[in-house]
Amino acid sequence: MSLSRFNALQNMESRTEPFSADFAEAKAEKIASYFGENVFNDDAMKKYLPENAYLSVKAAVQSGQKLTRDVADVIAKGMKSWSEEQGCTHFAHWFQPLTGKTAEKHDSFFTLTHDGRVIEEFTGSALVQQEPDGSSFPSGGMRSTFEARGYTVWDPSSPAFILAVGEGKTLCIPTIFVTYGGEAQDYKLPLLRSQSFLDKSAVPVAKMFDENVHKITATLGWEQEYFVVDDALFNARPDLAMTGRTLLGRPAAKHQQLEDHYFGSIPERVYAFMRDLETECYKLGIPVRTRHNEVAPSQYEVAPIFEEINVAIDHNQLLMDLMERVARRHKLRVLLHEKPFAGVNGSGKHNNWSLGTNTGVNLLSPGKNPGTNLRFLTFFVNTIAAVHQYADILRASIAHAGNDHRLGANEAPPAIISVFIGEALTNLLDQIANSQNQDGQEVKRVLDLIAKLPNLELDNTDRNRTSPFAFTGNKFEIRAVGSSQNCAGPMAVMNAMMGLQLTEFKADVDQLVAGGTTQDEAILTVLKAYIRKLKPICFEGNNYSDEWKAEAEKRGLNNFATTPEALDVLGKKLAQDLYGKSGVMNDVELEAYHAVQLHSYVTKLDIESKSLEELINSFVLPATLRYQKELADNVAALRAIDMLKGATLQLELLHRVSANMEVIHGGLQKLQVAYAKAHKAESLRAEADIFCHQVKPQMEAIREAADDLEAIVDDQYWPLVKYRELLFIR
Ligand code: ADP
Ligand code: MG
Repeated sequence: MSLSRFNALQNMESRTEPFSADFAEAKAEKIASYFGENVFNDDAMKKYLPENAYLSVKAAVQSGQKLTRDVADVIAKGMKSWSEEQGCTHFAHWFQPLTGKTAEKHDSFFTLTHDGRVIEEFTGSALVQQEPDGSSFPSGGMRSTFEARGYTVWDPSSPAFILAVGEGKTLCIPTIFVTYGGEAQDYKLPLLRSQSFLDKSAVPVAKMFDENVHKITATLGWEQEYFVVDDALFNARPDLAMTGRTLLGRPAAKHQQLEDHYFGSIPERVYAFMRDLETECYKLGIPVRTRHNEVAPSQYEVAPIFEEINVAIDHNQLLMDLMERVARRHKLRVLLHEKPFAGVNGSGKHNNWSLGTNTGVNLLSPGKNPGTNLRFLTFFVNTIAAVHQYADILRASIAHAGNDHRLGANEAPPAIISVFIGEALTNLLDQIANSQNQDGQEVKRVLDLIAKLPNLELDNTDRNRTSPFAFTGNKFEIRAVGSSQNCAGPMAVMNAMMGLQLTEFKADVDQLVAGGTTQDEAILTVLKAYIRKLKPICFEGNNYSDEWKAEAEKRGLNNFATTPEALDVLGKKLAQDLYGKSGVMNDVELEAYHAVQLHSYVTKLDIESKSLEELINSFVLPATLRYQKELADNVAALRAIDMLKGATLQLELLHRVSANMEVIHGGLQKLQVAYAKAHKAESLRAEADIFCHQVKPQMEAIREAADDLEAIVDDQYWPLVKYRELLFIR
């Protein structure tokens, strides 16, 4: 049998490698003995840099101090010695363009002098800035082709690392990616700006509680979900290869309804992959900690110990790259798409976000004593207030084609942004909102109330999994982020809106204090006023229910179900306010960012619909025609011997085949009409609308018919690897 499906299944069966737990090359040593060995971390810097250069890097990281060219030269020299000792021959500026993936352009240390001598060099200027051209990265029209240059500039706040692929080793320098004029072309620069804005706005607020605070960083712990499938089967599914998801496929009889995969024992082959992945992560200083099976068959999760937000995001980007590489060593493929399979859960990436101080305090952690409790209440209430005001921007920051399949699909957070805080805190806020201050004892009373809170971290086990934004004891968990996404988009929004909110809060408190109120009373008065306005954004019920949709509408919360709709806010004043006032993106950058996101949406749907056409024409129809002929021959043969009465089932099947073919035929024709309209659309937004409301529904109609054909066409004829094979073969 030469069908691609059977070839793939046979390839998989006949592999000679064991692909079991033994296959892992993972180290069996204690993790601490090699953690970070491929990172130019503090220890390496101390060893390879003179003290003044070391101190300059530290100052650059801690207070954003600029590094001079001389110091850069010294640092480059140290980095080169360190990396050459580890076997590096090349260096690369590593960056995060708006494709959402990572990018790298390698150059050798080796070079020729003007008189032809061979030398190895790495100068400060090569460390600090490179010009990778990069004219083919999405720029949203910011770089016209005649000045297409893009520049990468060193981000000293994230440590350099060595990427080892077999014997080849490259020193990678985390960088931002900007235009000639310095405009952001990537995810990292806006994130760094958001972090520094947050720091500036949050420190004065934290200082009201502790004079020793002079630096605040956002912290992030992401939880990465993913699917794993066999490499041979992956290759026999052109849709997976082209789009990252299955465009066709009838859900198997058994999928996730028995819930026997979730936290189940990890299949050995996947376990071997995980251990190798973790080893690579540890060498690169990525502190992954948790691994487990997820809800859907063949779905898994990996999560780290949280880190400072910029490094955490670099680590997640690096992890996604490593996952794909390491999986292939095991003849596996990792699917990072938000919805690779219909009928089972999709994948997300919960972003656990909080704020940490230089004094080692988590500002979202309720404490034991009264002073820390007012601090907790301040940062807690201000976060909710920020989400209330800027929910639409947060929604826009997670909008992309893949996530549309997930949000609101009764398995993942809905497209309506609301905040879940749990019963204890809901009651607390209610009591504070209603409290009075006739006796001058209000502050004390409120602090006593907080002190009586149950242990939230322990008490939150039954927390509401349907909420897109939940307080989980000492951090907020943003759950609507897509699995394939760069976290920097939504995290920059979190930082920026929190910064703006805290600035407003500080001004409100200062005003009362100037009028003679004590600081604690002023803080409580302002928080009380905020709490009274926060009701609409807080929701404790089932976010999947239809009642919530109706209720949210009454509360004035938006429900942007699709990407083009969700992105519209980026062209509005609310977005200009958030991104502009925080300095995260200027109007030009914002407009370009919006255009890139829309363009990416249109392009992805274009690729998906064209891939679907190909699948239908060259896989589904040939198999169906064969089967149809067989049925027709059978009916004709029975008629010839006057036995048509015995052909009821065959005739029924023939009708079912024909009816589905009719649907497919109609769908393909409508797709052509929609493409023609899309090509003539007067704007990118209009084009996105056509893809969203005219192309997508046709794709779904075609899929439904094709999936029904899969159910009846002879299994021996069906050329596409089936769900039960993709999802259950280990
Ligand atoms: P879950 O039950 O949702 O899986 P976990 O308790 O395992 O949650 O934690 C999820 C993530 O939250 C981990 O990556 C963890 O490091 C992170 N996390 C814990 N505390 C903080 C914090 N203060 N800031 C940011 N992330 C945090
Ligand atoms: Mg979680």
